[in-house]
Amino acid sequence: MSINAEYTLTIDGAGVAGAGSFSVLNPANEQVVGYAPDCSRIQLDQAIAGARRAFPAWSATPIEERRKKLLAIAATLTEYVDELKRLLTQEQGKPIEEAAWDVLGGAQWCEATSGLELPLVVVEDSADRRGETRRTPIGVVGAIAPWNFPIVLAMFKVAPALLAGNTVVLKPSPFTPLTTLKVGELLRGVLPDGVFNVVSGGDDLGPWMTSHPGIDKISFTGSTATGRKVMASASETLKRVTLELGGNDAAIVMDDIDVERMAEEIFWAAFKNNGQVCVATKRMYVHADVYEPLKVALVAYAKSVKVGDGSEQGTRLGPIQNAPQYRRVLNLIADAKDKGYKFLVGGEESTSPGYFVPVTIIDNPPEDSRIVQEEQFGPVLPLLKFNNIEDVIVRANASNYGLGASVWSSDIVRAQGIASRLAAGVVWINESQYVSPMGSFGGHKQSGIGTEGALAGLLEYTNAQTIYTNKKSVML
Ligand code: NAD
Repeated sequence: MSINAEYTLTIDGAGVAGAGSFSVLNPANEQVVGYAPDCSRIQLDQAIAGARRAFPAWSATPIEERRKKLLAIAATLTEYVDELKRLLTQEQGKPIEEAAWDVLGGAQWCEATSGLELPLVVVEDSADRRGETRRTPIGVVGAIAPWNFPIVLAMFKVAPALLAGNTVVLKPSPFTPLTTLKVGELLRGVLPDGVFNVVSGGDDLGPWMTSHPGIDKISFTGSTATGRKVMASASETLKRVTLELGGNDAAIVMDDIDVERMAEEIFWAAFKNNGQVCVATKRMYVHADVYEPLKVALVAYAKSVKVGDGSEQGTRLGPIQNAPQYRRVLNLIADAKDKGYKFLVGGEESTSPGYFVPVTIIDNPPEDSRIVQEEQFGPVLPLLKFNNIEDVIVRANASNYGLGASVWSSDIVRAQGIASRLAAGVVWINESQYVSPMGSFGGHKQSGIGTEGALAGLLEYTNAQTIYTNKKSVML
């Protein structure tokens, strides 16, 4: 596979040129990486029609066969990881090793999901009657993915949807469509025609999907603002929705942490993937007793981290992924400067091409500042001081978001007590961002609806069907 090859839509098992095309930029240098096909409305209709045609046979395929297909997807991603990771770094900006993780994480998700069982629950088994609740696939799933982890987050959806017997139309972000289009191409011979379709396009394509009567369920990962639109649009046809949305994760760093040992781990909780992680720490509350030493350690570590082109060796942080997000992060920095907040490190504007923002840490800005209240989704962290644990729990929970959170302490029991009081879908203790395919992952409050991962995530791609059989009628 050549990464410079043409990019095509995958519709009903075939490679199809778009009605037009659009350029995809490398955020490290703003040069064109490739041209993605622009899927027209008619082509979307064709993809959905193909998925509908494939549904009866795929849903009737024994689940053991579908498991094997998930393993075959995993094997394909693994086989082509070198080509895919280079392409992903070019279009997404992240360092090569992290791009490899994105692809291999997708493979691991398929492998782990392939082992899940669809439950059959016997609700009654009496002399009169047997009642069983089983799980049936929903139909055609429209999967809509963001640009921060294009492959693994797509596989969060594709793997359980296919295992449950649904067919899929996947739409990557227009900022990062190329690697996903290649994955579609690679899987053409792996899955039956129409079972897995990949479409890319502009701003109209997502709304066409969410309103399309041929799609039965939307699984969406992206911002809370877009999630609201998705839900409103899906309501017209009463589509099922799973929404994985934005966050403003709080970290609570207690007074008993070993600063020297933990500083690096705490740094990456906020800055991994340049802060462009839904569950990155976006507000860091630090106990006053360790505020100064942690501040010093974080700043020293920040200065040692190489920011640059993700394809260069030694780069730990690439550019911001796209121009609108870059402007948004710069705007938050400008606001913090205007308000006179103190910058511990960073904040300078880059003059070189590419959407680069230096690692930036702001010293104890007010709780109601924009950088504390908004999801920055970039390498800009407010460090906030606290004295009282009750007070900081209230501050951490005072958000419309409720995606993730973390607690850092040498006293595990105390940390667990605090974790259980945080209104978030996932809480980490002395680590961050770890996600297991066997654990539920999903937001509370306006961070989402539904969950991904584990049995609960698989069930999101099913309907419940209860069948009652009257035994007496047979005996008569
Ligand atoms: P986004 O909402 O701008 O876009 C996400 C996807 O939705 C893209 O494919 C986009 O083309 C599509 N889209 C845009 N408008 C649409 C519409 N009206 N109808 C249907 N689809 C539409 O998000 P983004 O900027 O790509 O991603 C960053 C956001 O995603 C952040 O808020 C982040 O926290 C969130 N996120 C959440 C999770 C999670 O699991 N909860 C994971 C990663 C990212």
